[in-house]
Amino acid sequence: MQLVILGAGESGVGTAILGKQKGYNVFVSDFGPIADKYQNILNVENIQWEQKQHTEAKILIADVVVKSPGIPDKAPIVKKLHEKGIKVISEIEFVYEFAQNTSIAITGSNGKTTTTLLTYHLLKQEGVNVGLAGNIGESYAKQVALNPEKLFVLELSSFQLDGNINYNPHIAIITNISPDHLDRYDYKYENYIASKFRITMNQTEKDYLIYDADDEAINNWLQNNTTKAQKVPFSLTKKLDQGAYLENNNIIAMVNNEKIIIPTNEIAIEGKHNVKNAMAATLVAQMMRVRKQTIRESLSNFQNAEHRLEKVAKVNKVQYINDSKATNVNATYFALESMSAPTVWIVGGVDKGNDYDELMTFVNEKVKAIICLGIDNTKIIDAFAPIVEIVYEATSMKEAVQLASKVAEEGDTVLLSPACASFDLFTSYEDRGTQFKNEVHNL
Ligand code: ADP
Repeated sequence: MQLVILGAGESGVGTAILGKQKGYNVFVSDFGPIADKYQNILNVENIQWEQKQHTEAKILIADVVVKSPGIPDKAPIVKKLHEKGIKVISEIEFVYEFAQNTSIAITGSNGKTTTTLLTYHLLKQEGVNVGLAGNIGESYAKQVALNPEKLFVLELSSFQLDGNINYNPHIAIITNISPDHLDRYDYKYENYIASKFRITMNQTEKDYLIYDADDEAINNWLQNNTTKAQKVPFSLTKKLDQGAYLENNNIIAMVNNEKIIIPTNEIAIEGKHNVKNAMAATLVAQMMRVRKQTIRESLSNFQNAEHRLEKVAKVNKVQYINDSKATNVNATYFALESMSAPTVWIVGGVDKGNDYDELMTFVNEKVKAIICLGIDNTKIIDAFAPIVEIVYEATSMKEAVQLASKVAEEGDTVLLSPACASFDLFTSYEDRGTQFKNEVHNL
């Protein structure tokens, strides 16, 4: 059997290793340059590869192709594969048949990484033999090659879900849905929503779908479509018989007649959005029979990944917060919502078709100054200049942080929550957040 892998990043190279272990002839092709690290691995494993080109003669003879989620369907090589009727799948689809245990899959527009890490943490603290993969950390394929018996918690983007055919997670979570990445979905929101719901398409009556019952897009889909999975909702606004809800600042989570009560002030990560993420992860833990004490302890000692409402430092009694991962309006909405002090807000970057209306109330109430950090800030200035007195523009992180520190007074917060992608001035959201932290430490 000929396995061709398009894209030689973490997941592609991992898939090559697993494919070889399972007896496939493997060929890896990347249209860009392949990082030295991955070239070395492929060479050591004796796997054929090419870079900066796609040699059709070696690709169009595949029995199955595993495509990196970064390569769009409209890429010429993918079109040709489709025309020839060759199966093009995701890493997850290829791997799951070799995995001996079930998996937990997490998708959504925001909160995937946080919920995935938290779920993993809850299971790990209980001593479950659990791994972490998908959009995060080491390749799922490589880990299954080494530890096929592990239970995996997978963070899945809509692009990964698009390449799934039979993959069936035992527990699926949809954290929330708001418009994002529409350029990959013909600018149709319904296509993006449908892509997210692919997470449940193969689930059976034995499986669970955990979802945000306050989310309009999710509710609409569920009203008009069916899933075989048992539906387990969570909500900040309404009481539920099964699932998780809020009552007097406590999370009440009920699954299979097991009930747990967790005061929200015991949860290490702050903000309403993180209460939702904690609800989703807690429901998984209950389904996996994690003890209540472990759930409580793990929620209180969890440390989130960098760049997500990360408290950086207090300088001159001003709190600096790095939320560089907020690359869309919805993520920034929750950041602003969780601000309790007058806020100097650093915002901007590559606009993905943002509508700032939903931020107006919080900006009006909490934001005393805006520092625009992007090449083109027109939309932000047009939206907020009428309600915020101080609006500055900066063209580097250094300038932005220095401006913010001049405007901020004792007791204020400086929040980097850009609501935009980072690629105009930075190489990635990580680069943006790291530069922010460095500049804060330089103050
Ligand atoms: P993802 O992996 O889906 O991008 P992250 O956990 O990395 O999600 O968080 C991305 C951004 O969204 C951060 O700014 C974070 O504070 C915010 N966020 C996290 N959880 C949620 C949620 N449930 N709803 C809205 N925004 C969220």
